[in-house]
Amino acid sequence: MRLINREPPWTTDETRAFRKVAREFIAREFVSHQARWDEHGRPDPEAWSKAGRVGLLLPDVPEDYGGGGGTFAHEAVVIEELARAGVHSGFGIQSIVAHYILAYGSEEQKRRWLPRMASGELIGAIGMTEPDAGSDVQAIKTAARREGDQYVVNGSKTFITNGSYANLVCLAVRTGGAAASPRALSLLVLEVNDLAGYRVGRALHKVGRRAQDTCELFFDELRVPIGNLLGPGEGRGLFQMMDQLSYERLSIAVSAVAAAESAVDLTTRYVKERKAFGKPLIDLQNTRFKLAECKTDAQVGRIFVDNCIQQFIAGRLDSVTAAMAKYWLTDCQCRIIDECVQLHGGYGYMQEYPIARMWVDSRVQKIYAGSNEIMKEIIGSSL
Ligand SMILES: Cc1cc2nc3c(=O)[nH]c(=O)nc-3n(C[C@H](O)[C@H](O)[C@H](O)COP(=O)(O)OP(=O)(O)OC[C@H]3O[C@@H](n4cnc5c(N)ncnc54)[C@H](O)[C@@H]3O)c2cc1C
Repeated sequence: MRLINREPPWTTDETRAFRKVAREFIAREFVSHQARWDEHGRPDPEAWSKAGRVGLLLPDVPEDYGGGGGTFAHEAVVIEELARAGVHSGFGIQSIVAHYILAYGSEEQKRRWLPRMASGELIGAIGMTEPDAGSDVQAIKTAARREGDQYVVNGSKTFITNGSYANLVCLAVRTGGAAASPRALSLLVLEVNDLAGYRVGRALHKVGRRAQDTCELFFDELRVPIGNLLGPGEGRGLFQMMDQLSYERLSIAVSAVAAAESAVDLTTRYVKERKAFGKPLIDLQNTRFKLAECKTDAQVGRIFVDNCIQQFIAGRLDSVTAAMAKYWLTDCQCRIIDECVQLHGGYGYMQEYPIARMWVDSRVQKIYAGSNEIMKEIIGSSL
């Protein structure tokens, strides 16, 4: 339930109807399978094509390329509904990868990959992080050397969401130039089905988001046509990533607010039912004060994120504001959820209580897509 008794200012008749479809689909097809997905460490493979059939994959990609033809408002609806339902299974990466292709791909590349991503035939992953290069993206070692009309790729990536299922990997590689040069990196798109030299490593065991498939990837003399380079030439990878990371950071901020709202909502219901010293917990002033703080924080966050969404749709969201949204709203999400666990007492630490799951699932929001410290570096550099 939304804390503010109104719809977001970016709502249209179309997004209202789309939200209904998304909510019902997620409850029916995703939430009911979540426990099994947790056990397997990833969703069922057919979950992607099912989501594609109802238009939940690439809702903000033009119809010409198989997408829903909507705006970021449509994407925000999907992100919010997944976050409220507590489904963290890597579906959001699909849009992130698609937007790299949409922004930098040639017409031929867009027609080759986007419609198949929209239908769920292709599952996307984004490969930037390496064992020795996380925050320091420019330290990437995975290299692509040119041989005729092919690139030969060697190296490895880690922490890759959708790693084991992905058959389309957008990969950050070193194509040349001095190590520290901002022009040393490029983005290659790999179609990895039966691709020689491609290997999925072990599944990584995370403390939360257990249904989200997270893997290592290895590349050994892997050959890819030069036509799979994103952009008009080599050396643009760092700029492309810096630009597109705003989309990913805004998406994370949207999910952070939705999860925080959900946590306040379910905790409010819990403290009205649970009794201590002969009366409901809500009758204790500390409970009301803590929830008042959480509700206020969530509402401030809602107004900020709605404004960012509107700015993004208008093409005006700058990378510094996107960094502020990612940093502040994920910090806020973790603070609120931690407080909500406290208000649940011991039950808040039990896996069968949704708040416990939210607690472990939320923590990584401050780490990935650029840690919150890196967000502060970005904001700081604008001062
Ligand atoms: C569940 C999960 C899913 C992920 N999915 C993907 C994915 O799909 N694709 C992908 O490419 N990556 C993915 N990542 C990787 C993620 O983006 C990185 O973990 C993140 O960027 C941090 O890099 P690192 O882990 O190497 O930490 P490090 O860079 O080693 O940082 C360690 C600590 O040092 C701090 N630090 C580093 N540099 C600075 C600085 N300059 N100033 C201040 N503090 C600093 C960091 O903030 C952090 O607190 C995922 C990670 C997780 C955990």
